[in-house]
Amino acid sequence: MPLNEIGARIAAAEAAAQRPSGVVQLIAVSKEQPEDRVLPVLEAGHRLFGENRVQEAAGKWPRWRETFAEVELHLLGPLQSNKARQAMELFQTIHSLDRPKLAQTFARLAQEMGQCPQMFVQVNTGAEPQKAGILPEDADGFIKDARALDLPIIGVMCIPPVDEDPAPHFAHLARIGARNGLDALSMGMSDDFEVAIAHGATHVRVGSAIFGARR
Ligand SMILES: *Cc1c(COP(=O)(O)O)cnc(C)c1O
Repeated sequence: MPLNEIGARIAAAEAAAQRPSGVVQLIAVSKEQPEDRVLPVLEAGHRLFGENRVQEAAGKWPRWRETFAEVELHLLGPLQSNKARQAMELFQTIHSLDRPKLAQTFARLAQEMGQCPQMFVQVNTGAEPQKAGILPEDADGFIKDARALDLPIIGVMCIPPVDEDPAPHFAHLARIGARNGLDALSMGMSDDFEVAIAHGATHVRVGSAIFGARR
């Protein structure tokens, strides 16, 4: 679907929810997409992209950034501690802060590097054993600890269970954000970004609806 059509759907969802126009940021999720699908989106002027894996992003974005210098990159996928430094160099925002050890690693590296990306705490709203994220009941304590480490936490992020209505998960994440004074909500993907916007999403992560199915 063309980018401007996604933009129009986002604008309509903002209006329907009586939210200010332009409050929702569209992260174009370019993971696993071939260059001939990503370049047209860059050429159309879009500058905010999401990737799942450090290695994959490091293999393509430095080159694309030579042409499109103002690109902002967000990391969406789980991160191993031994890739934290590389992630901090490559990404402006990390959506997958999901465990205490990673928070400690980021804090140590931030001291050393004198810089730190903005961060979302990933919450496993469905309490799925195979899924990354802090359990909802542990979220408040984890956010408090991450703040005590001086990490720039701006919001919370979730990926609802695939086979469930996402709306209650989005509502739950919004409550966790609100009670912790966090304004940014990273939620909503190709199939449900309008529902997420109705529940207060500020960052929607849309891949296949923009670029087509991943190969
Ligand atoms: C792949 C991915 C997306 C985009 O998914 P689509 O269904 O293609 O829009 C969004 N968020 C995360 C965390 C992802 O891994």
